[in-house]
Amino acid sequence: MRMPSREQIQDALRKVIDPELRKDIVSLGMVRSIEQPEEGRVDVIVSLTTPGCPIRAHFEKAVVESVQALGVPTVTVAFDVLSDQEKAGVAQRLGRQDGLPEGALAAVKNVICIGSGKGGVGKSTITANLAAALQSDGMRAAALDADVWGYSIPRMLGVHGRPMVSPQRKILPLDGAGGVKAISIEFFLNEQDQAITWRGPMLHKAIRQFLEDVDWGELDYLLIDLPPGTGDVSMTLAQLLPQAQFVIVTTPQQAAQKVAKRAADTAQRFDLEIAGVIENMSGFTTPDGERFTIFGEGGGQLLADELDVPLLGKIPLQEELRVSADEGRPLVLEDPDAPAAQAIYHAARGLIAATPQQLAVFQPPSGPPMPEVTGTALPMAP
Ligand code: ADP
Repeated sequence: MRMPSREQIQDALRKVIDPELRKDIVSLGMVRSIEQPEEGRVDVIVSLTTPGCPIRAHFEKAVVESVQALGVPTVTVAFDVLSDQEKAGVAQRLGRQDGLPEGALAAVKNVICIGSGKGGVGKSTITANLAAALQSDGMRAAALDADVWGYSIPRMLGVHGRPMVSPQRKILPLDGAGGVKAISIEFFLNEQDQAITWRGPMLHKAIRQFLEDVDWGELDYLLIDLPPGTGDVSMTLAQLLPQAQFVIVTTPQQAAQKVAKRAADTAQRFDLEIAGVIENMSGFTTPDGERFTIFGEGGGQLLADELDVPLLGKIPLQEELRVSADEGRPLVLEDPDAPAAQAIYHAARGLIAATPQQLAVFQPPSGPPMPEVTGTALPMAP
């Protein structure tokens, strides 16, 4: 087999365009190395402008395709990050005095996906309250509503409307209860299309836009409310966010714990770390102090033990938690001393203890390549 020369490979890589900087990665000086360790294989290292760059999946696919087009069967792509000096060089090549645009997630320390095996276990209620609890404990927190069919974050954080777009063409999240920033598909729907029937490609595109085009600013925690189960959206996110961690919400029912385990299995398949389990609807206590274990007992602990992760909290059934969520005022802010609120604060502190505070360094995704989707999924306000 005749292997292409280094120059031919470099030429092929000129087809790989950085979508943010709108130039090819060779001219930008972002190709760190090209190696041919054996016949039929080429290893490329691409240097990114920021570690939290969600478009790495785009680069990976484009590099593999352009080198394979030269007849090389095996192409591996790895990533590193440009030094400040190198970034200044790239900016100079682009003729920019003001440096490079920052990647959307560059300043997000911890990305936490909140998942569940099935719907109705309180995943969204926990996400909204956990974000508000983290924020009131002095963390900067935001909620990304990726539960695209059952979006309820806007209602629970009392925030509706259409986001503005910054001069840099970034979508600005809206401020919800307690100053928690939020983005939801609801913000982009028209009155008449409240029921959305998006599938595969449009969904991928929307989720990618939520990650790439939203200006989250500096955050300690971005909580992502996943749809229940282990569908498309969870897969997309797992691939785009290889450094994200998972929190699994389950009920105390031992049968539910088996369903929740499947969500955990998805996370593990993509090598995503599970930060812990939260058990919700853990018993109901009457005003007289009598406790009923309506949804059984022990499921959360069982799942946590099986996954070998901490049980971050057991949130009791409390009507006020539901009422305050319906009214857009999270219980952790409305009545921080309520038993359910206390339990959520406890979980928030457990999460803080279980997650790193330093800026997350994003690694190349390990899953199969992302399907490429073009076109704009989200109608944006001007
Ligand atoms: P999911 O996101 O898992 O589908 P939701 O968060 O929408 O579930 O919760 C379903 C319903 O149950 C909501 O009305 C919510 O307010 C209520 N709920 C959730 N957890 C509790 C709880 N611990 N006590 C009382 N009501 C709860």
